Amino acid sequence: MTDANAREAGGRPAYLGLGANIGRRARALSDALALLDATDGLSLTAVSSVYETEPVGVTDQPRFLNLVARFECRLSPEELLAAAQDAERRLKRVRARRWGPRTIDVDILLIGDERITTPALTVPHPEMTRRQFVLVPLAEIAPEVALPGGRTAGELSGGESAAVRRLGTVAEVVARESAEAGSDG
Ligand code: ATP
Ligand code: MG
Ligand code: MG
Repeated sequence: MTDANAREAGGRPAYLGLGANIGRRARALSDALALLDATDGLSLTAVSSVYETEPVGVTDQPRFLNLVARFECRLSPEELLAAAQDAERRLKRVRARRWGPRTIDVDILLIGDERITTPALTVPHPEMTRRQFVLVPLAEIAPEVALPGGRTAGELSGGESAAVRRLGTVAEVVARESAEAGSDG
């Protein structure tokens, strides 16, 4: 579909931030991308590298793997949130406490230039400009996109660091994780 046709159909780029810090973390990210890409009205158009990141806030938990992905999105914001939550459910997200360990977290960062403030959904994601685990991967695939406050991910990203370490592409990190876990898939 051309850009013009996508706009006529209500399409615009949506950026999602994915994270996992329990179990097969890379597999969870990869499976979530596949589930989202298989959703009507969503098609995956760009994926960052996978980064291993130090937990922020609740710090006594395992390190996360994080990435940011761009989708061409023809869903309403509510439908996109439902798709994100459906992917979390299908990957059997377990979580004991807020901001604690989870098998998968799918957060909506941006939906075109839309601003949404409802009890269930705030877009742009209110924490995104303060989170290097979001800004570093976002800067990789969308360094110029305008964020709340008028700065860009390219400007706000501190780049790779000990706290946000690039591991490789999704495929590379999934393969490494599978090799480390043995031959059970
Ligand atoms: P944070 O949003 O600070 O990263 P979290 O991802 O751990 O925290 P969740 O438990 O995944 O939080 O989500 C709690 C609620 O946040 C969800 O039920 C959802 O309704 C709401 N929410 C509000 N804005 C968003 C957004 N932009 N993306 C995803 N969920 C959102
Ligand atoms: Mg989150
Ligand atoms: Mg979340």
